[in-house]
Amino acid sequence: MFSKILYPTDFSEPSKKAIRYVKKLREAGTKEIIILHVIDEHELAMMIEGCGWLGKDPNECLEELEKKHREVAEKELEKIKKKLMSEEVKVKTQIEKGTPSKKIIEIAEKENVALIVMGSHGKGVLKELLIGSVSENVIRHTKKPVLIVR
Ligand code: ATP
Ligand code: MN
Repeated sequence: MFSKILYPTDFSEPSKKAIRYVKKLREAGTKEIIILHVIDEHELAMMIEGCGWLGKDPNECLEELEKKHREVAEKELEKIKKKLMSEEVKVKTQIEKGTPSKKIIEIAEKENVALIVMGSHGKGVLKELLIGSVSENVIRHTKKPVLIVR
């Protein structure tokens, strides 16, 4: 039924809870899984102040931060890929830069996935909220079915 799914992750514990359900979907016949991480460009831009304190050239400093973030993300994505791989399924990893919810919606469209599977919360600290802002924006604006894992 859900032959191709998108699993966006910020590598937080709540987002990792969704992996169990991605596995269940794989057992139920999912053929293709895209694991997506979005480098939040606003979050990155906010670090420019810190770069200033360190007395570094802001642009160079941001480029360096982005590069490091990418390296860590690539490793984390590979780890998740290993967990999800099997003979029956094709697993792809992807890194994008932008606004997380917008990129998630965009990639879901572009790849024409049948389902988006994501956590209710992420790295954010406001755990008392029903769901995080990325999840909320995705379900508000995407036309795709979404499975929110709590
Ligand atoms: P907020 O960001 O509003 O402080 P939060 O961090 O607790 O809240 P969200 O960011 O909405 O919660 O995270 C919910 C889910 O959205 C995560 O479990 C993950 O699946 C997905 N997600 C969040 N950020 C990203 C990201 N940068 N790239 C890919 N997926 C993400
Ligand atoms: Mn978040």
